[in-house]
Order: sequence, then C-alpha cells, then structure tokens
Amino acid sequence: NSPLSEVDPEIALVLEQELGRQRGTLEMIASENFVPRAVLEAQGSVLTNKYAEGYPGRRYYGGCEFVDVAESLAISRAKSLFGAAYANVQPHSGASANAAVLAAIASPGDRILGLELAHGGHLTHGMKLNFSGKLYEAHAYGVDPDSFLVDMDVVREKALETRPQVLIAGWSAYPRQLDFEAFRAIADEVGAKLWVDMAHFAGLVAAGLHPNPVPFADVTSSTVHKTIGGPRSGFILNNDLDIQKKINSNVFPGQQGGPLMHVIAAKATAFKLAGEPEFKDRQERTVRGAQILAERLTAPDAKAAGIDVLTGGTDVHLVLVDLRNSAIHGQDAEDILHSVGITVNRNAVPFDPRPPMTPSGVRIGTPALATRGFGDAEFTEVADIIATALKPTPDVAALRARVLKLTDGFPLYEGLTSPGSW
Ligand code: PLP
Repeated sequence: NSPLSEVDPEIALVLEQELGRQRGTLEMIASENFVPRAVLEAQGSVLTNKYAEGYPGRRYYGGCEFVDVAESLAISRAKSLFGAAYANVQPHSGASANAAVLAAIASPGDRILGLELAHGGHLTHGMKLNFSGKLYEAHAYGVDPDSFLVDMDVVREKALETRPQVLIAGWSAYPRQLDFEAFRAIADEVGAKLWVDMAHFAGLVAAGLHPNPVPFADVTSSTVHKTIGGPRSGFILNNDLDIQKKINSNVFPGQQGGPLMHVIAAKATAFKLAGEPEFKDRQERTVRGAQILAERLTAPDAKAAGIDVLTGGTDVHLVLVDLRNSAIHGQDAEDILHSVGITVNRNAVPFDPRPPMTPSGVRIGTPALATRGFGDAEFTEVADIIATALKPTPDVAALRARVLKLTDGFPLYEGLTSPGSW
C-alpha cells in the first residue's frame, strides 16, 4: 500500500509533469477536455478491480451487485440525456464503439459511405489501414471545393452511385452542423442504415445547442471525453430493439471482454453532470469561444497575413485555421503556438496543396478552456494571442507571458496535491 511516488517514482514524475503542463498551458486540442474531480475519483477507484463480463443482471461473474448499479445508472442517464430508447455504455473507446456499430449493422464486404478522411472524416469511417477500410468496401463523399461545406446533393449522388449498406454522418474536423434529416432521407432512398458518429459534438447536443441525431439515425455512437468532458471511452444509442440486441452482442462478446467498470462509473457521473445547468453554460461558452476565435482569425489584419478560417466561421466547438495563403504551414503554426504555451494540432485542409506532415491547417478547439472557466473576455485574449503568434515575427516571450497570466487566473485542479490524490 505504498504510494505511487515510492513504488514508481518515474511514473509519479510523469504524472507530476503532466499536471504541471496542463496547468501552465492553454489546452486547445479540439478533442480534449478536463474531467471534473468527481470523474477522476470514480475512474481512479476500486471498481478497476472488478470483472463484469455481460450486462447488468446478466453477468458471467459473481459479486457484480454494486457495479450493476453503476452501469444501470450510466445507461439510464445516457438514454435520458439524448432521448434514446437504448444505450450501451461498455465501449472502451470511440473506435471500439464504432467497430461494434459496423459489426452490428453491416457484414464484411458491405459498402460503407462516410466523409472523406482528408475532409474531416474519422479513421473508423473507412480509412484503408483501419478495420473499417479493411473489412468493408469504403467509399467517401467530400466537402464542396469552394464552400468547404458538406453538400447534401453530392452526398445523395455518391449514395446513389455506391448504394452503401451504411451511410455515415459524423466528423473529427468540420466546423458546421450536419443536416441529419437530409441524411435520413438519402439513407431511406438507397436502403442504407444511417449511422451518426457524434463523438465530437455530443456535449453540444446534450446542452441543446446542436440538433440531436438520435431521432434520425438507426445508430448513434459517441465518445465521452471530448465536448462532454467525461472519461476516455465510448457509448452507443439507438431506438430499435433488434438493433440494440445486435449492438449489445457485438460489443460483448463481439469486440470486448470485461468492461472497464471504473470508467463506466465515471461515465455515469459525467452523464449526470451533463444534465445540469452549469453544463449548458459551459457548452455555450465553448461555442461562443470558437466563434470569437473565428472572428479574430478572419479580421482584415489576419487575412492580410494569409490567415483565414474554413467556411468563414463555426457553429461548433472548433475552428479550422486555413493557412494556404500564409508563409507558415500547419506544423510551423503548431510549433509556434506550442512555444507560447498553446496546444493545438496541425490538420490537413480539404484539397490541401501541401504534404500531410506540413499541411495547411490547424484545428483549434475551445472545450477544455471553457471547462477551465473561460468566457468571452478570456477567449478574446486567447484569439488575439493566436492571431499575433501566427503573423510574421511574433514576440514569443511576450505572448508566453500573456498565456501565463490566463493560466494563473484560472487554476486547474486546485487542491490536487499530488496528481493522483486530493
Ligand atoms: N469518432 C470520431 C468522430 C472521432 O473524432 C474520434 C476520435 O478522435 C473517434 C471516433 C475515436 O475515439 P477514440 O479515440 O476514443 O477511439
């Protein structure tokens, strides 16, 4: 029962350093967030010890009476948050949720049609090295070359041409909302199942700031750790009992063995918090922060420096910075922002003229900073810092000082004395 610092000082140091990094920088990776203390507690708990193959009330192990309560709470909270009849909360991650979804609604060799990876789609929607591209015949629709928006006429044309068994709506890098009703109509027209992957925008849906795909989709999958701000994991929702049975058997035993009961308990807590008024306020600040960023990065002085934002703005929690006309590329931008203490990731823009390792875009998200407490004033300052950093010859030391003023003003995990204990 010795503490981590004694048992494994090297790993204790990693935790210490990572906590310091999270506290002292501005986290703007669009898929990241900070879980609340309650989620850390549930996840770092004795539930990690428990085997619970099966589902609540139908386990293959004894002693599941308490973890059953945790999983039942996670299920009922997920269902009520998103208005779904059924929920599976066992997927270890978004990718394993998606593997179970495809296994449930398609057979190997079936055609799937999703958003092109290079245009903002996800690996699990048909990338050739991913299970989805290996097991299924993957086709893609792209965004419009001028507007950079998903054009539903193009989606329909592609669907009529490829006749997919599964039509996929969802993205990892796209700054606008999708038209789920139109996706539903196309799926019906070609006889496809509609699968929506709301991993990125699920928190906005829960807060009522984004259309809910659940009424339109045959299956909806998600992660819990992006806009929702819960533990790293996935879940699946649907309204059809036959599909639900297939989802359940394709999660366990299809894809997974024992569920991570500590993570499932933490999911239950995250879903509970997502139903509270503070959560809505946080999601509103998230979207507003992204819009402030888009405004600042499309201002005349930014445009004069070759900086722009794809689609001219955002309706969600991220902006896609377009550096095609800039002297610097996405890797340069990622490095410069890292040097001032802002963490982002480079990203290809659709039809990118530059190579993948030095692409023309940067994806910048606001969920983690909104969780940290940022509002309009702080996001305006962040946007100014980023715009200045991306222009020629930025004063890195001055910008780093401005970042530190923001991080100091919004302490993270106050009271966390060592990274694993309160
Ligand atoms: N689906 C989408 C749309 C995503 O953006 C991601 C993660 O980036 C995933 C699924 C996969 O989630 P995970 O990293 O938990 O496997």
